[in-house]
Amino acid sequence: MTARTVTDPLAVYSAFGRGGAAAEGPRTAQSAYRGAGEDVHRALAERVERLRPALVELARDLHAHPEIGFQEHRSVARIADLLEAEGARVERGAWDLPTAFRATSGEGPAHFAIVAEYDALPEIGHACGHNIIAGIAVGAFLAASSVVPEGRVSIIGAPAEEGGAGKELILRAGGFDDVDAAGMVHPSVGDEVSPIYGAGGTSGVRRLTATYHGRAGHAALSPYLGLNALDAVVTAYQSIAQLRQHILPIDRIHGIITDGGAAANVVPERASVEFLVRSTEIDTLNVLVDRVVDILEAAALSTGTRLELDLDFVPPYLPLRPNVELTKRWASGLTARGRTVPLEPRTVRQGGPSTDMGNVSWFVPAIHPALGLGAASGVLPHNAGFAASTVQEPAFDALVDAAIALAGTAVDYLADQDLRAAVTAEFEASGGRRRWVQ
Ligand SMILES: [Zn+2]
Ligand SMILES: [Zn+2]
Repeated sequence: MTARTVTDPLAVYSAFGRGGAAAEGPRTAQSAYRGAGEDVHRALAERVERLRPALVELARDLHAHPEIGFQEHRSVARIADLLEAEGARVERGAWDLPTAFRATSGEGPAHFAIVAEYDALPEIGHACGHNIIAGIAVGAFLAASSVVPEGRVSIIGAPAEEGGAGKELILRAGGFDDVDAAGMVHPSVGDEVSPIYGAGGTSGVRRLTATYHGRAGHAALSPYLGLNALDAVVTAYQSIAQLRQHILPIDRIHGIITDGGAAANVVPERASVEFLVRSTEIDTLNVLVDRVVDILEAAALSTGTRLELDLDFVPPYLPLRPNVELTKRWASGLTARGRTVPLEPRTVRQGGPSTDMGNVSWFVPAIHPALGLGAASGVLPHNAGFAASTVQEPAFDALVDAAIALAGTAVDYLADQDLRAAVTAEFEASGGRRRWVQ
């Protein structure tokens, strides 16, 4: 019998040297580009300030009626109604996705898309603050479209960020084909240029379910006739726990046992485990998935069971690649609102959460900065306390500031040809367009 070849990560990992990769990030806070000019930015701010009551009401309303991914029918109706009341023409159910939408304003070749999210989490509602994201996007789009100098600005409503890869589905349907750059803002614990939470990175993620098929048997009368699928799951789970000591600090693996058998006196015939595998680089993500799959297969071999692997049952999320030149325009807009945005290089690289905006950022230059909502220290996204913080005055102040700064980023991009050229040059220099390839 020939031994199966096991994945050796050395070639990929050796690039990380001792203790992790080199720090990287924007090295200067100052944008070298003029953007749209002060008068335009003043007009944007006035427009968003006038919209504030409607945006706050929207954020409150979505918070009070949370809907999970692909079920955001009421939320989309509420958002679209507001956009239409302000004069936008909204295409609901865009790209054959019932809870996606889009609206476009202006004319010209250059096209900036503002991306909205509005899905909630099961049980804890808007604990990721997507109600605030929706308010920011609507405010930014309406403001930008009221002053858009030359070019087009769109709002793209993307469903199911929490585990449904709505933006990847829109990408596949061609929704970003005529877009040149894109931006959105995500609530967090503080204002940061790119990572969602603190100093951590934003990871790519691939999801998998491993189901083992064994043979049932009486657990006392004839255990020797059984092949134990739960043993395979436990072996895999423990082996992955051992693997964690030997992965990169930018990696994460976490999972749950979703099926552990039906009765304690029956040898489990079937058992399942679900894992999320994350890393902040595409190459390290792929090699980590290969190592996990090696372990899953080994667990089947060691227990005599058969592995049924469902890999990428949700499209992979790529790690976010924020565009530095666009980020600087964002930071300049937010700074003008009296907020502080640290732009120093990241010195610690570690794994973190994921977003399907990562996939957009490998298709067009994009930003996804983090916005502090003023939640109490220790209250992090995906926590019920964070949901509560999204309907407090500091969150509404942040919403308004972010809507103004995001509208400013869009309009700066459309108005300043030199900025556009720099954004594109950076995008190409950092690897250009990349779609998911295994
Ligand atoms: Zn989330
Ligand atoms: Zn989120």
